[in-house]
Amino acid sequence: MDPRCQKRTRPEKRPRENEIKHTTTCNGNKKSIKQDEWNQLSHDDNNRETQPNVHSSSTLGKQLPVLTGCRSVDNYERLNFIEEGTYGRVFRGRDIQTNKIYALKEIKLNNEVEGFPLTALREVSILVSLRHPNVVHVREVVVGSNLNKIYMVMEYAQHDMKKVLDNMKHPFSQAEVKSLLQQLLSGVAYLHDNWVLHRDLKTSNLLLDDQGILKICDFGLARLYSDPLKPYTQPVVTLWYRAPELLLGAKTYTPAIDIWSVGCIFAEWLRRKTLFEGRTEIEQLTKMWEILGTPNEEIWPGLYQLPNANKIKFIQQPYNRLSQRFDNNIYGSQTSVTKLGLDLMNKLLTYDPEKRIQAQDALNHPYFEEIPKPVDPSLMQTFPETNKSPY
Ligand code: AMP
Repeated sequence: MDPRCQKRTRPEKRPRENEIKHTTTCNGNKKSIKQDEWNQLSHDDNNRETQPNVHSSSTLGKQLPVLTGCRSVDNYERLNFIEEGTYGRVFRGRDIQTNKIYALKEIKLNNEVEGFPLTALREVSILVSLRHPNVVHVREVVVGSNLNKIYMVMEYAQHDMKKVLDNMKHPFSQAEVKSLLQQLLSGVAYLHDNWVLHRDLKTSNLLLDDQGILKICDFGLARLYSDPLKPYTQPVVTLWYRAPELLLGAKTYTPAIDIWSVGCIFAEWLRRKTLFEGRTEIEQLTKMWEILGTPNEEIWPGLYQLPNANKIKFIQQPYNRLSQRFDNNIYGSQTSVTKLGLDLMNKLLTYDPEKRIQAQDALNHPYFEEIPKPVDPSLMQTFPETNKSPY
């Protein structure tokens, strides 16, 4: 059985924060990140979370020993610029010794005053501790020659899912969508089993390699969660993929916010168009009500206790019209979805986060057993390499 599809048993109890251990890789050696250091990266209070930068470059080594003793970026030849990311540019590079291609994400240490971007610290420290085929792997962290830049060296993926969707000539087949969804859910189940919330799942944060393997990337907004849940920062998650509880102002949220985003991505793979495209938070909620029906206390107990629920006038739309968004006659046969597919999508897009399906349970949904079965990733259609520049 493909290890990506193996069942994982979710730990019975979420660990408390001081029970969680983290590791990182520098120069190929695994190092433990001290809990204090991790807390500094992942559990700062809301105040800290809104500060753009922490740590000055001169004190970086002392404050973050995980980043000391790293190799130089000179071990890589810079090939081409790929894209400007959340906090730095991403390049394609070649390991001079092995000739293997990697993606290098540059993290600029702006200056003594601004220091090291918190989002970058988060991403580095979370990603180096994770290892799963559907989560982009960080090989090592390397430093620039005059120590004003740090690079995260990641496995290289040839395609960006958003660009693939925007430019593809033939839509994904049902079997391909099934494979992509299975891979995405596998990666998300792994993150949630390891107490990581991604908090920004969307098609532009998914990569696809030339073997058809999907990789979740951009962990700049990711953070660790724990039991008991703490109030976290608002807002997170790009508007179109943002869960209703976030839009309604929930202060504590759970892995269910990532699952909502997965439901939106599943629909987008079939339609090649985002499902809920609001321009404001209210419009975003209205689009949901229009398609999924207006929620009420009966289906979502506690709905009216959410901070924004009484501030917004809900349009009343009593029906779930999700199936109409996948109507063959309107959108063509490729956008159709089977009854089981629709059932899974509705479970991923369940309003009440308590009732929303979890990633592991979604992986066991009969949708993945019905014909057509998920295609083997190696048989996925091919695309022009979007991350390699023509020059
Ligand atoms: P990010 O800041 O992580 O969102 O990265 C910005 C862009 O760089 C992504 O949308 C991808 O196009 C590209 N990118 C990021 N990581 C990789 C990678 N490991 N392999 C190839 N391209 C990547």
